[in-house]
Amino acid sequence: MNLNEARLHAQELDAQDALSSLRSHFDIPEGTLYFDGNSLGPLSFRSREVLNRTIEFEWRERLIRSWNEDWLEMPARVGNLIAPIIGAAPDTVICADNTSINLHKALMAAVALRADRSEIVVDINNFPTDIYIAQSVASQHGMKLVAVTADEIIGAINANTAVVTAKVLDVDFAVGCGYKYLNGGPGAPAFIYVAPRLLETAGQPLQGWWGHAEPFEFEVDYRPAVGIARFLTGTANVLSMKSLEAALEVFSGVSLEKLREKSVSLTSFFIDLFDDHLAPRGFTLASPRTPESRGSHVALGFAGGKELVAAMAAEGIIADSRPPDLMRFGFAPLYNTHQEVVSLVERLSSY
Ligand SMILES: *Cc1c(COP(=O)(O)O)cnc(C)c1O
Repeated sequence: MNLNEARLHAQELDAQDALSSLRSHFDIPEGTLYFDGNSLGPLSFRSREVLNRTIEFEWRERLIRSWNEDWLEMPARVGNLIAPIIGAAPDTVICADNTSINLHKALMAAVALRADRSEIVVDINNFPTDIYIAQSVASQHGMKLVAVTADEIIGAINANTAVVTAKVLDVDFAVGCGYKYLNGGPGAPAFIYVAPRLLETAGQPLQGWWGHAEPFEFEVDYRPAVGIARFLTGTANVLSMKSLEAALEVFSGVSLEKLREKSVSLTSFFIDLFDDHLAPRGFTLASPRTPESRGSHVALGFAGGKELVAAMAAEGIIADSRPPDLMRFGFAPLYNTHQEVVSLVERLSSY
């Protein structure tokens, strides 16, 4: 497909896109092509509006009364907005802390449930913080950390395995990030999920007053709250949680199947155009070709990729790079279009 044909095809795909109206929720600067929502989601109009109201009304006017009027309930409320997005039941997800800290809580809880076992298995290609956290949990418990590729995980599990971190479903614990595809804003809090079967037995290492059964009784001894609330530790980051809560409104009524379908359509379209226009110019595909093994971003290898990403950013085409020479492009189904994919390929093929 030449680029003119690709553009016509993209126009058709965008015209048929059932999610096309969702882009209007986001205030993406005119002229910017944004392919980095996998690192920082863009500002939504609702986040700006809610943050302004929180500052002017809830904080300035209502002052400390806002805790009882609204803020105390936020971690559970926002958790329940995230639950359907990750396919979890109500009251099994809570919003708190960041992903690294939630992973630490989950790993410590999981290890405590299998105290007779001595090994932690992790995917060596996990985001580095995930491995650092696992290293710290393993060293605190005198356990062995087994870091292997995703394909090797099944083979690495044995009678000594206490916990496995991997990207799968029907898990005991899960953690995730609020500032990437959920668009909560820079440093927005993360979330933690605990399977219903473990909610009353799993404990967590960072016992704090927000996870206490009666936080305002100021008891001397810690007693865990009933349910997912025990996975809280301290005071919620109200402003960034407000921003996240507002951004989650964009997901209401959006079918996850449709989101996934569009994500696959965008990444597959990019890979098709890669084959025709970028592979011949020395770019290599670093992401899986099978959609089932892919998330919503595609990485390309290219000598000088870092410099090319920087040059494109100066022109308002935003992606990111990873050493040694990977270029990463996020295609977010809430706001990216097929026509933007064509523009990206056009720019890359004219480097
Ligand atoms: C983004 C991301 C993180 C980031 O952790 P923070 O504590 O929010 O900095 C961790 N793990 C994974 C898998 C991620 O994608």
